[in-house]
Formats: sequence, C-alpha cells, structure tokens
Amino acid sequence: MPSDVQLMRLFAKEYVSARQNLLDICEKMELEIESRAITENGPHEEALTTDFVWYGPRDASRLILHSSGVHGVEGYPGSAAQVWILEALRSGELSLPDDTAFAFIHIVNPWGMAWLRRVNEDNADLNRNFLPPGEEYTGEPEHYARLDAFLNPKTPAKGSEFYTLKALWYSTRLGFATAKQTVQEGQYNRPKALQFGGSKLANSSQHVLDWLGENLVNAKKVIWFDFHTGLGPFGVDSLLVSESADKESLKQSYGNRIQVLDPSKSVAYRIRGGIQAGVEARWPDIEWTSITQEFGTIKPIPLLRLARAENRLTQWSGKPPMALLRSKERQAMLNGFSPPSDKWRRMILNRSRAIVKDAIAELTKN
Ligand SMILES: [Zn+2]
Repeated sequence: MPSDVQLMRLFAKEYVSARQNLLDICEKMELEIESRAITENGPHEEALTTDFVWYGPRDASRLILHSSGVHGVEGYPGSAAQVWILEALRSGELSLPDDTAFAFIHIVNPWGMAWLRRVNEDNADLNRNFLPPGEEYTGEPEHYARLDAFLNPKTPAKGSEFYTLKALWYSTRLGFATAKQTVQEGQYNRPKALQFGGSKLANSSQHVLDWLGENLVNAKKVIWFDFHTGLGPFGVDSLLVSESADKESLKQSYGNRIQVLDPSKSVAYRIRGGIQAGVEARWPDIEWTSITQEFGTIKPIPLLRLARAENRLTQWSGKPPMALLRSKERQAMLNGFSPPSDKWRRMILNRSRAIVKDAIAELTKN
C-alpha cells in the first residue's frame, strides 16, 4: 500500500515533476532512459519527451510492455502507475521469469500532459492516429455530421449547457450505443473537432514506432498494457481487448474485467487508428496480447461534457496558451481524468501492479 507521502509524490502536478519521478527511480535502479523530444515545449519552456525504459535482459524473447499518456492528461495517473511498478521491480515484490524483459513507454503524448489536454499539439487523439500502413487519414463515422454542430460549437461558451448535452442522446434518436460509437470512433475530416485522428502520423506516434522497431528485434511474445483513464466505474479497471482476441483464455489469466471493444457490450467502443492495433499491424510475426487498461473516473456524459467544453475553449476563445492552461476547463480535464482522491489513487496503483502479476503468472506457466 502506498503511503500518503508516496501518493503525493507519485501523482505529480506537472509533466516535469512526473518525468523527474521516472528519472529518479531509474537512477536508483541504474536503468538507462532513452528520451525522444517533440518540437513543441511545455509551459516552462521545458523540452517535452517520451521516455523509454528497458528492464531485464536485452535478448529476452518475451516482453511485458507498459505505456502511458497516449491521452496526455491521463499521463498523471499513468506516470504514477509506471513508477509504482518500477518500485516493485526494484524491491523484488515483482520479479520477472526467465527470458522476459519489461519495457516502459512513459508518456506517449507529453504535450497533452503538460498542457492538460487529451490530444496532442495538433489536436490529434493519438489513440486514433495509428492507422495501419497504407490507410488514408480521411473519413468519419456515418452519423458524425449529425452530431457535429452539437459536439463542436464554433462560438465561445455562454453559461451552462449541461441539460442540452443530456438531451443530445434523446434528440438524435441514435440510441446510446450508436451515439457513443459515433462520437468516439475517430474522424479525420475536422481538425478542430473532437476525436480528430490527425492528418498524418504524429511526431509522437513516429517516436513510438521507431523505438519499437529498434527494440523489438528479439521479441517473439509481447504482453502490452496501455494505461488509460475515463470510462467505467470509479477506480475500477476495464481490460479492453479487440474483437478478434481470445477472450476466454484472456479471462483465465486476467479475470472477468476483460471486455471486447464493442459499444453495446462494454464501457468502450470500436476505434480507428488505435495505438495497439496500429502497432500489431506493423509487427505481425510477434504474438501480441494487447490490453487497454482503462480506469473509471466519472460518468460518460459528464466526461464528454468536459472534453467538449475544453475543446470549445481551446479552438474558439482566442485565449493565449497560458490562459488556456490556467482555465477552469483545463483544470476540469485534469480532475476528470485524474480524480484528486486518495481512494481512487490507491485503487489504480494496486491494480496496476496486480495486472503485471497476472502477466508474470501467465508467463511463468508457459
Ligand atoms: Zn485514454
């Protein structure tokens, strides 16, 4: 169990201090960090990097991979979880079986983390940006145009519109599952709108692919946990897997939290350009077990309301970057995706280690 002091330290208040936590634990463990910077800087003019850490034998054929901060602001709990796992590797609470290494991708989207957004410097959702090779950055879900005016108002906000948003689900008559799917699938036609997947492979996405290309040379089997927050019951993780995954065998290793990415059967939805599918498509000879570990925070409509208000402010208020960063909308994003609750924080840290234990147990058996 993390102490109060540990919680305070692990859940950093800024990107720079979260990164410093990673640097500190890696220095203690004598682990090398490989840092790849994007061109934009953070609010203190600091460089923004994705940091890659390798633990264990370089020639291992089996790898546990853990990534955080694909949605920038979710990097606050994601970084905490990664440092917490590293501390368990250091103390021996977690130990790897033979022929197994552990790699961390710390903050895929550092710009979004530093500036309290889910998206990157180009308003792209990086979990919609990894289209398979050859697929064009174009298109949008069938009903997106019907929801666009509502989701992406092109004027600054005036007053509260909470009930209007609630009415959306009823008025569009799409039904909750279809509306959820339409809103979240990813779109490539409207660069200022929600769930924009980008107009090309993002700098940050390229960093991930480059690093994997250099480091997956010996890997035959990879178990990958991509850390997210937002959807689902408070502090409880849903383990989201693709529809093609062997759900039954995954349940044996990871329990009943396994859910397929289907809008009617889970807290989530199918997406285009997801990081895990995009990576798997590029290394088809590796045996992948890819799981999105998504920790619930608040309910889906309030969550959408936050993202909509924040995007509206960012795109249409004309405010400068520092004013946007200090806005109540950005602060609400942080609280919505990283609730300031010790109970929530303990829950996510415990489960972040527990799922690694499950992976180690699976690898030890086989
Ligand atoms: Zn996310």
